[in-house]
Amino acid sequence: MIYDLHTHTAFSDGVLSPRELILRAVENQVTTLAITDHDTIDAYRDLDVNENGIRLVPGIEFSTQWENMGIHVLGLGVDLGSEALETGVQFQTDARLNRARFIGKALEKMGVKDAFSGAMGMSAGSYIGRPHFAQYLVSIGKVKSIQAAFKKYLGDGKAGDIKQHWAEFPQVIQWIREANGIPVLAHPLKYKLTRSKLKRLLDSFIQAGGMGMEVVSGQQTPQQTAEMARLCEQKRLLASCGSDFHEPGKHWGELGAFASLPDYLTPVWDRF
Ligand code: AMP
Ligand code: MN
Ligand code: MN
Ligand code: MN
Repeated sequence: MIYDLHTHTAFSDGVLSPRELILRAVENQVTTLAITDHDTIDAYRDLDVNENGIRLVPGIEFSTQWENMGIHVLGLGVDLGSEALETGVQFQTDARLNRARFIGKALEKMGVKDAFSGAMGMSAGSYIGRPHFAQYLVSIGKVKSIQAAFKKYLGDGKAGDIKQHWAEFPQVIQWIREANGIPVLAHPLKYKLTRSKLKRLLDSFIQAGGMGMEVVSGQQTPQQTAEMARLCEQKRLLASCGSDFHEPGKHWGELGAFASLPDYLTPVWDRF
């Protein structure tokens, strides 16, 4: 059994349609898949939850902040029709649009014209994010690559890295719980925290109703996996794993292709 519980479609910043994503997951022997687009569940609108024999677990990846740092929380096994989830998605969609205007202004100050409308033009659905600004910056020749756009304009601490608009950390956890989903802290290693700060983050997460953490997120070293597994056990959290797949290629992990969870942990799918 291969569980991939963290993936993106073109409804946020991935490139595949939900159907294409599912076909690719089936090819890669994934047996249970969660589509977890950023702050949206639009991918599920035209899908049957038992499509192609693969088991689909409804999911979402909420953006939030903790101590002024951007943090992502997955909601796994959510009821797609839940009112709390709808409220959350609406709040975050408004926040994204609002934030995009601020990012546009910040980029104008750096000499980038029409960044807001340019990025909106790159976005297809309700999701508007930094990747669209990056695409726009590449399209007008300000930078050569998406990576360079993040490095100069949009990445951590850069002018376009505007976080303050998201719903608060306890709020997103509450929306997920009210939707009967399991809140899972996404990619804990990605925040580049010291171990003691990561433990504090997990304590706040648990206190607010968080239930699981990603022990395996894409490609990581066996040492990193062992360390995350120990933390997960210490904090008595459910263990999750996923590729965080966005598109085929080098930058992101491939669907279903990552280390398995250590046996001694309780996997999050025990609760689905
Ligand atoms: P946002 O949701 O608007 O905050 O945009 C964050 C998204 O940008 C992440 O989910 C990643 O998919 C993408 N991203 C972040 N950093 C980079 C980077 N250095 N290169 C390419 N994509 C990135
Ligand atoms: Mn993304
Ligand atoms: Mn994320
Ligand atoms: Mn993700």
